[in-house]
Amino acid sequence: MSSGWIDEEYQGIVRTGFRLKRRIMRRRSPFQTVEVVETKGHGRLLLIDGMTMVSERDEFVYHEMIAHVPLFVHPRPRRVLVIGGGDGGTVREVLRHRSVERCVLAEIDPVVVEASRRHIPRTAASLSDPRCEIRIGDGVKFVRETREHFDVVIVDSTEPFGPAKELFGPAFYRDVRRILTDEGIVVSQAGSPFYEIATIRNLRRILRPIFPISDAYLFTNQTYPGGLWAFSFASKGLRPVRDFRAARVARARLPLRWYNSEIHAAAFALPQFLKDELSRR
Ligand code: SAM
Repeated sequence: MSSGWIDEEYQGIVRTGFRLKRRIMRRRSPFQTVEVVETKGHGRLLLIDGMTMVSERDEFVYHEMIAHVPLFVHPRPRRVLVIGGGDGGTVREVLRHRSVERCVLAEIDPVVVEASRRHIPRTAASLSDPRCEIRIGDGVKFVRETREHFDVVIVDSTEPFGPAKELFGPAFYRDVRRILTDEGIVVSQAGSPFYEIATIRNLRRILRPIFPISDAYLFTNQTYPGGLWAFSFASKGLRPVRDFRAARVARARLPLRWYNSEIHAAAFALPQFLKDELSRR
């Protein structure tokens, strides 16, 4: 790390540097190393194993896009499961929907929740909402064992290794399908089209035989390597654009800074290289 900067090295081929003001915390949990730092231009950063997870400057993009796309396609989302997401940003956006009665957060690492609550209240504040229940534990196990059903499942996880590895596997998604209601939708953090296109393709290969509808959508993230990132979308029948009603967004009148009904539709317009890759069997 060059002095005065905190660098994220990615795949050994690219490095992103943030001007460092001070280190706030660093703790090794049984799963990973969790850090929070203060930067000059991007607010506070949450890093896991040296990878930027959340920056106060642009976290609204990621969290609005991972939450509002599925919650505005579903006609009336009431019960939502968030897997990972220990920083609380996704839960914050989910709970903006007045129809949501219950949001379960299944996060494997309590250190992430504690660090976010203490040092990044901007994302973690809603974790204290009475509609939110935090279940510390493996999301794979939670989905396998729960008897609850959910309208939307959001997999807001780290990259497909370590504790998150099984969150990118077929057995997990078969269990997700079982716990989804009839109009259920699942979206997942799927990585960079520039650097991890295999992750996006593999997710599509896994989802296609399990869900009648599967797709991918994009958003820009200033603090992630390459600046362009993907989510996967899958459902038991609802189509992400054709079954989306812009009137729901207008009616909800949520205080959003990135997501709107035009962005929703545009996010599913994929660049040709990604379309070609995803059409390969
Ligand atoms: N919102 C961030 C982003 O922008 O990418 C990432 C979300 S959050 C920090 C990623 C979380 O996934 C971490 O807190 C990690 O502990 C959690 N996680 C990884 N594997 C998990 C598993 N199997 N079950 C539950 N949570 C898991």
